[in-house]
Amino acid sequence: EEQPIEKAREALNSYWGFSSFRSGQEEAIRSVLEGNDTLVLFPTGGGKSLCYQVPAVVQDGLTVVISPLIALMQDQVQQLNKAGIRATFLNSTIPSYEVEQRLVNARNGMYKLLYIAPERLSTELWKSEQPNLDIQLVAIDEAHCISEWGHDFRPSYREIRTALEDLPQTTKWIALTATATPEVKKDILENLEFEEPVVVTGGFKRENLHWWVSKTEKKRTLLKKSVKKAADLGSGIVYASTRRDCEEWAGYFDKNGISAKPYHAGLDTATRNEIQQDWIDGDLSLVVATNAFGMGIDKADCRYVIHYTIPFSLEAYYQEAGRAGRDGEISYPILIFKESDVQYLRNRVEQNYPDREILQKVYDGLCDELDLAVGSEQDSPEEVFFDNIAKRTKLTVSKVSNAVNLLQRLDFLIQIDLREPRVGVHF
Ligand code: ADP
Ligand code: MG
Repeated sequence: EEQPIEKAREALNSYWGFSSFRSGQEEAIRSVLEGNDTLVLFPTGGGKSLCYQVPAVVQDGLTVVISPLIALMQDQVQQLNKAGIRATFLNSTIPSYEVEQRLVNARNGMYKLLYIAPERLSTELWKSEQPNLDIQLVAIDEAHCISEWGHDFRPSYREIRTALEDLPQTTKWIALTATATPEVKKDILENLEFEEPVVVTGGFKRENLHWWVSKTEKKRTLLKKSVKKAADLGSGIVYASTRRDCEEWAGYFDKNGISAKPYHAGLDTATRNEIQQDWIDGDLSLVVATNAFGMGIDKADCRYVIHYTIPFSLEAYYQEAGRAGRDGEISYPILIFKESDVQYLRNRVEQNYPDREILQKVYDGLCDELDLAVGSEQDSPEEVFFDNIAKRTKLTVSKVSNAVNLLQRLDFLIQIDLREPRVGVHF
């Protein structure tokens, strides 16, 4: 008889086409298959989904995935279906007759995974159907929504355990989040009544990413060289700061044999979607974009991300640059800047905030807000963030947003500077 973990490895390969598990994944999957209550704490992009999707595929019966966002559900179901795995979702975008049909299908064993919003667990329809379903695994994605300490607190997430209390003892449970603070973790374990949980952390290191920071007075030359070399490896992104930069550089590379298009807020939605899709499909090698590009895009084989602009913060940089190499292959996040970029920021600070006290206030407010946000899966919308700081500091929102912008960029440079910027890119 084949070991369950062997089956899992085969599934990873045959359905997803991946050759190996990432750090933590195998441990999490093994733990689930052994029937332990399992809590997975990987950062965003760390590969949490597979920790329940692989068990769902190798086991009999149905896996119910609790997910907070309609877009997430649809996205995942689409990807699973593409990989040949039967999955569906129930949410408010589905007409009720379709919901009923999907539940009938689920009862007849047509799906391996069923995605559902937590609110739906308390509907009469779900309550009457649940006993007919062969639920083997419950996966709670974005589990920090359980905790009032997490900023995406969602009351119905706290009712999941109660709503599913009639499930047999043998049902397996897994919860997953990128928020690893002790309070949130404790809340999740208590609320879900995980008694002897296996907690799996990992996926934090991205060994395949070769980070490169270049401080140079020859930015343009270096950008050209870097893209030329990197484009041989596959597709990539260049982040630039202005629409004009995006247009010009995309034009330049496109003329020089690397298919490239600009992407920024000045383009209409249809054009932007088309560019994004072409890039994802590999029909377009390079997108030169403002930071509007990339949110929610899941392209596994992006080989390089070049910043030709100073990122807004270290967190933002990590997220943007981290879009490279999600498939585990060697990839290159590259940052290119020059001394005068730094000087420019310093000057703007001096000009706009001669009164140091204001800056200090904003800085303190910023630190407090960032502390709250650290480790959480999604940033709160910028307006909320600035609004909170404005309340703390009693300054206007525009004053705050201006100052934060400058402060974060400066702070970023200070942190980057510590890491010995070098000139030149070596592949
Ligand atoms: P998370 O939910 O932790 O933010 P995801 O589950 O969405 O992360 O995975 C992020 C990306 O990593 C996806 O593109 C996924 O296909 C990829 N990935 C996950 N596990 C592996 C693996 N073992 N090998 C290669 N790519 C992987
Ligand atoms: Mg996820």
